[in-house]
Amino acid sequence: MADMVKTENLTYEYKVTYERNGKNVTKKVLALNNINLNIEKGSFVAVLGHNGSGKSTFAKHINALVKPTSGTLWINGYDTKNEEFIWDIRQSAGMVFQNPDNQIVATIVEEDVAFGPENLGIEPEEIRKRVDGAISAVGMEQFKKSMPAKLSGGQKQRIAIAGVLAMKPECIVLDEPTAMLDPEGRKDVIDIITRLNKEEGLTIVLITHYMDETVGADRIVVIDDGNVVMEGTPRQVLVQVDKMKSYGLDVPQVTEIAYNLRKKGIDIPADILTPEEMVGAICRLKLKI
Ligand code: ADP
Ligand code: MG
Repeated sequence: MADMVKTENLTYEYKVTYERNGKNVTKKVLALNNINLNIEKGSFVAVLGHNGSGKSTFAKHINALVKPTSGTLWINGYDTKNEEFIWDIRQSAGMVFQNPDNQIVATIVEEDVAFGPENLGIEPEEIRKRVDGAISAVGMEQFKKSMPAKLSGGQKQRIAIAGVLAMKPECIVLDEPTAMLDPEGRKDVIDIITRLNKEEGLTIVLITHYMDETVGADRIVVIDDGNVVMEGTPRQVLVQVDKMKSYGLDVPQVTEIAYNLRKKGIDIPADILTPEEMVGAICRLKLKI
């Protein structure tokens, strides 16, 4: 399988300049430290890490919003340091950010979704097709003529995803897209990106703080202090409860309950990730009451 994202010793430093005693001082902040990570085309990868670990900096590299300080990053085979490929890269990988209000540019939903393809200079007929397709892919057909300002946070995020889809990307990077949403809005967004991955083959890179959103991913990557510290399937990563906690991360609630039951000597599998698996495990127990 070809790689959508490939990095080789990717390192990124922010330079922060401030004034001290009348002099400008420049301080370097190491945000990514020698990252070697491949994301296969068509896969769904969840990226975890506590605040300040480097997740957003990594996400911005995928869209070439920032360039490596050292090392190399290829998106769909294009080296992001090469200016010549900037549009190919931006078209290959679209981004959805945390705050839906910052991503909406037009006053009517369908105009907002058309904004990206219009900027690419695409023919009006083709734009119309893409806008309709993208809006129905996120289940917002009845809101085509609505004003985005009147929509809920979850609906706005679905419009932001439609705007990215209208550019026909191969990959979508979502940087904490559900952080500002209510449970219903969160579920809609996760269902949509899961379907886009499974049915349309889009590569999904999901940065999130909600552990239950990572259970359906093919792979989880944990970043800590600019380093990749854990990597594997959700079952391999999420069941390492103590290690996850050492990086300031939770595990799904049922995984933690299973872990605590095992500690108390109850014979329950260690790798429970969903409520359904928990129910199955409890039913298999020969409970002595
Ligand atoms: P995360 O998304 O995991 O919270 P970030 O990628 O935003 O992490 O930040 C990684 C590190 O880089 C942190 O130490 C953060 O303070 C620093 N950082 C992020 N953005 C900037 C910036 N614009 N200028 C200086 N330092 C930054
Ligand atoms: Mg962030």
